[in-house]
Amino acid sequence: MNFRNLSVAVGMLLVFLSCNQNPFTGKKTLAVVPNSQILPMAFQQYDQFLQENQVVTGTSEARMVKDVGQKIATAAERYLNANGYQGYLEDYRWEYNLVNDEAVNAWCMPGGKIVVYTGILPITQDETGLAVVMGHEVAHALANHGQQRMSASQLQQVGAAVGAVAVNEENQQMFQTAYGLGTQVGVMLPFSRSHETEADKIGLTLMAIAGYDPDEAAELWRRMKANSGGSAQPEFLSTHPSNDTRINNLEAWSDEAKAEARKYGVTNFKS
Ligand SMILES: [Zn+2]
Repeated sequence: MNFRNLSVAVGMLLVFLSCNQNPFTGKKTLAVVPNSQILPMAFQQYDQFLQENQVVTGTSEARMVKDVGQKIATAAERYLNANGYQGYLEDYRWEYNLVNDEAVNAWCMPGGKIVVYTGILPITQDETGLAVVMGHEVAHALANHGQQRMSASQLQQVGAAVGAVAVNEENQQMFQTAYGLGTQVGVMLPFSRSHETEADKIGLTLMAIAGYDPDEAAELWRRMKANSGGSAQPEFLSTHPSNDTRINNLEAWSDEAKAEARKYGVTNFKS
């Protein structure tokens, strides 16, 4: 067996050895690189992003991003603990930052590193609209959708790079693309429709447990859709394709999300 074949064999073994279970859907998902390797990379990229961008501090909007983010994180912890996934968030280091950028965008990296762009605030409008977006983004992170955007070999490269002294530019680029950090529309990969649907459903549950009215989710996506006209496609829409099916789904799932939240003693939903 030559070296190349051996690498492939080892790679395949890793694939088989490291399937995770998605705690929200019960589905097995591929996790070629464990969190212990992905998270240091994510934390480094996040810090670098904050250094290179204008973080908004001390405003009511910046406070709102932190408040809503904390509530969504707490909801995720409660949900996971109640469903036998204690320790799932052990390596998470939640952080919620608002950056001054007109892009209609938001994302959450593995390990709970969240960025909301000021450009999305006119569409979210209030705390509840923001909870829809942040719940959805946190859901992508919890379900490890970013990892699944990369091929197995790319993931191994990133995994290997974390252990190396310097992370080269190519690896960085790949990582940023997979996790939606790129700011140019062309650079960003859309999530698959099935990942979008999954994130919508998980996000709805999280926002409801956090005390926000899940009925507002469909409203947010209606506003997002209305905003998508014209030549400039907002970034959030290019990576989160909006359609009527999504809006119909969110409406259909809303009561279920409220019923789930009641199990946690949440009976009032802020709209
Ligand atoms: Zn999404």
